[in-house]
Amino acid sequence: MHIRGWLTGLIVFLLAPSLLFASLWFYNKLSSVSAIDKSLDGLHITQALGPLIQEKAITGTVRHIPASLRSQLTGFGGPERAKYLSDLLDKFTTEKDVNLSLKQGRELALAITQMARLTTAGSYETSKLPYLLNDMLLSVVIESSKMAENARRLSKRDTINVWDKMSIPVQGGQFKVAADGAARETVQYFEYLKGPHADNLRQKAVQYRSANVQFQTKGSKLLSSTIKGATGKDIISEPVIAAHPELIHATFMLWQEILDYLNENLEQQRSQTLFAVSLAGFVGALVIFGAFGIAVALSRALADRTQQEFENLGFHDPLTGLPNRRALLDKMRDLPQSEDGQRIGLIVFDLRQFKKINNQYGDQTGDAILRLVGEQLTCLAEPEDFLSRTGGSEFVLLRPALQDHSQFERFAKKVAQSLAKERPVDGQKVVVEVNAGLYINQAGSSATDRMLIDATLALRSAKKKGPRKTAIFVPEMRAVFEEHSETANELLDAIDEGNIVPWFQPQVDINTGKIVGAEALVRWVDNGGVRYPGSFLPAAEDAGYMKLIEATVRQQAFNLATTLNTQTDRCIHLGLNVSADLLGSAKAADALHQTVLDLGLKPSDFSLEILEAVMIDETAADPIKENIAHLSDLGFFIELDDFGTGHSSISSLRDLHVDRVKIDRSFVSGVNNKPDLQKFTSALINLAKSLDISVLAEGVETEEERCWLQQNGCDVIQGFLISKAVPQEQLMTMILRQDILKTLPSTETLHAVQA
Ligand code: C2E
Ligand code: CA
Ligand code: CA
Repeated sequence: MHIRGWLTGLIVFLLAPSLLFASLWFYNKLSSVSAIDKSLDGLHITQALGPLIQEKAITGTVRHIPASLRSQLTGFGGPERAKYLSDLLDKFTTEKDVNLSLKQGRELALAITQMARLTTAGSYETSKLPYLLNDMLLSVVIESSKMAENARRLSKRDTINVWDKMSIPVQGGQFKVAADGAARETVQYFEYLKGPHADNLRQKAVQYRSANVQFQTKGSKLLSSTIKGATGKDIISEPVIAAHPELIHATFMLWQEILDYLNENLEQQRSQTLFAVSLAGFVGALVIFGAFGIAVALSRALADRTQQEFENLGFHDPLTGLPNRRALLDKMRDLPQSEDGQRIGLIVFDLRQFKKINNQYGDQTGDAILRLVGEQLTCLAEPEDFLSRTGGSEFVLLRPALQDHSQFERFAKKVAQSLAKERPVDGQKVVVEVNAGLYINQAGSSATDRMLIDATLALRSAKKKGPRKTAIFVPEMRAVFEEHSETANELLDAIDEGNIVPWFQPQVDINTGKIVGAEALVRWVDNGGVRYPGSFLPAAEDAGYMKLIEATVRQQAFNLATTLNTQTDRCIHLGLNVSADLLGSAKAADALHQTVLDLGLKPSDFSLEILEAVMIDETAADPIKENIAHLSDLGFFIELDDFGTGHSSISSLRDLHVDRVKIDRSFVSGVNNKPDLQKFTSALINLAKSLDISVLAEGVETEEERCWLQQNGCDVIQGFLISKAVPQEQLMTMILRQDILKTLPSTETLHAVQA
C-alpha cells in the first residue's frame, strides 16, 4: 500500500510540472493565434481601405465609403481607439486637399499596421512588408499624386516663377526617393520570399518598377520643361498626368499583392499554430493517458507482486524463512509415487521445554534460538531434504527418496545430539534439548498427511524417554494414542463426578511400627471397580490433565489432614506426588503454601514426593531445583521418589534440601536374599545417611525384606507388607487403632491390620 502511495506521488510529481508547462505552452500558443487573428483583421481593413486611397489618388475624391468599413474599424480599435480611427477615416474622406487627404489615409493605414502588429505577426521575411505596404508605397502614391497635381497646376500658369522652378525638382526628388526606395525594397525584400504568391509579388514588383521608370521619364520632361519654360504652355505636363494613373494602378496592384501575401502568410501561421496546438493536445492527451496507463499497469503489477508476497507468506515461516506446514503438506501431496525400494522419511524435531525458555529468557531470545536451530538444521540436512518449520518449536525434515532405513535413524539421532547444546544467545547461555520422532513409509506407498501425524506420535514417545531421545513410529503408538484420547475424555467426566480420589498407603516407622505417614495415590473409582494410575495417568499426561488431577488429589488430602488434626493427636505426613508442572513455577509453589495456611494446616503436614527423573531434564532442572528449595524453605517435607533410578548426584541431594529418600521397589524386592542387590541398596541407604537424610523403603512385601532393611538403617517402610493403598476412612481407622501395631515387628499383626 505504501509503495502504491509513493508511485502515485511520483507520477503526480512528474505529471504536475509537465501539466503546468503544457498549460503555459497552450496559453502562449492560443494567445499567438488571437494575435494573428487581430493582424488578419487589420489586414482586411487595410484591404478595404486600399481602393478608397487609390480612388482618391486618381480621381481626387471618394464617392462611397462602405458602412462595414467603419464598423470594422471601430470593432478593431476597441473602446479606446475606435474614435481615433474613425476620425482619421473621416479626415481622409472629407479633406478636400487631395494631398492632405492621402496623408490622412496613410496615417490611418499606418495606425492599423501598428495596432495589428503586422510587423511582428508574420515571419521574419515578412516583417518589412507592412512598412513597404503602408509607408513606402503610400508615400509613392502621395508623392506621385502631388507631382501630377503640380503638373496640372503649372500648366495653367501664365508665368513660371523661380519658386515654381525650385519646387518642381524638390517635390520630384521627394517622389524619386520614395519611388526608388520602394523599387529597391521590392528587390531586397522579395528575393527571399517563397510560395506561389511570392512569384506573383515579384511579377507585380517588376510592373511597379517599370511604371515607376515610365513615370520618372515623363517626370523628367516635366522637370526640364519647368526649368526651361517661362509660361504654363512651356510645361510638358500631359505625359506625367497621363502616366500617373498607371503608376497608381501598378502601385496598388503591388500593394494588393503584398496584402495577399501577408494574408496568406498569416493564415498559414495561424493554421500551423492551430495544428501545433491540436497536435500538442493530442500528444499531451496521449502522454497523460500513457502515464495513466503506465500507472495503472504499475499498480496492477504491484498488486500482483503484493499478492505473490502474500502467497509466499502463506507458504513461508516469516521467522526462519523456512517453508511452513502448508508448504510441507503441499510438497508431500506432490511427491511422486516412490520407486521400488525407495521410501519417504519424515522427522519431526521439537525443542524441549521451549515455552519455559521463552518465559525465562523472553520472546526475543526464543526467536533467536528458533532462527539458530533453523539455520543449523539447514546445514545438517541433505540437499534433497525438504526442511520446514511447522509449529512453535517444531521443525520437520522430509526426505523424499530414502534408501537406507537405519542410516536415516542414525541421521535423526545425530541431529538431535548436534542440536542439543548450550547456545550463547543475546549474551546468555541457553541450553536447548531436542527430541525427534521418525516416520518411514512402506516402500512403494505414496505420501499422505497421516505420515506427519504418525511422526508426531513418535515424537511424543521420544519426549517421554527424555532429552535428545528419538523414536520411530510403530502402529502401537497410534493405538495407544487413540486409547489415550478416549481415556482422557472419560477422565474429565470422572473428575466432575468426583470419581477421581486419592487412596492412602500407610508408611510405618520401621522401629516403632507406628504409622508416621501415608502416600496419597490416585484412584479412579468406577461403578464399584477401581482403576489404577497406570491405566489413566499416561493419558492424562498426554492430554495435559495432570494439574487437574493433582489438584483434586491434593484437595482431598487437605481434607484428610484437617480431619486427622481434629480427631487425633498423631503427627503424620501425607505424601503428595507432585509433577514438574507444580515444581516449575514459583507462583504455584506460593499458592500451594497459601492454601495450606488458609486451611489452618502446616506445610510440614505434607510431604512432597518428587520423582528423581524430573531433574534429569537439564533445561528445566535449574528452575525446578530452585523451586524445590523454596518449597523446603516454606516448611514442606521434601522426598525424593524412586530413589536410585534417576542417578541423583550427592550435590543435588544436598542442594535440594531433601528430607527423605524413597528407595525404589526395585532395590527392595528380594533384597534379603540377593547379595548383589544388597550392595546397591545399602550404598543408597548409606549415601542418604551420610547426608543426614532419612530413608524410606518402598514396596516392602515380606518380613524378610523388612528385617534386612531394619538391620541396614532404613527408617520407614511402605508396602503391601503393611497395607495397600486404602480409602481415606480405612486409613483413619488404621491410624486410630495404632496401638494394635505396637507389637511390630510381628507379621501376623501387620496382616491383621490389612484385613
Ligand atoms: P509411586 O509414587 O512410586 O507409588 C507407589 C506405587 O507402588 C503405587 O502404585 C503403589 O500402589 C505401589 N506399591 C506400593 N507398595 C507396593 C508393594 O509392596 N508391592 C507392589 N508391587 N507395589 C506397591 P500406584 O498406586 O499404581 O501408583 C503408580 C504411580 O502412579 C505412582 O508411583 C506415582 O508415580 C503415580 N501416582 C499415583 N498417584 C499420583 C498422584 O496423585 N500424582 C502423581 N503425579 N502421580 C501419582
Ligand atoms: Ca510416590
Ligand atoms: Ca515410588
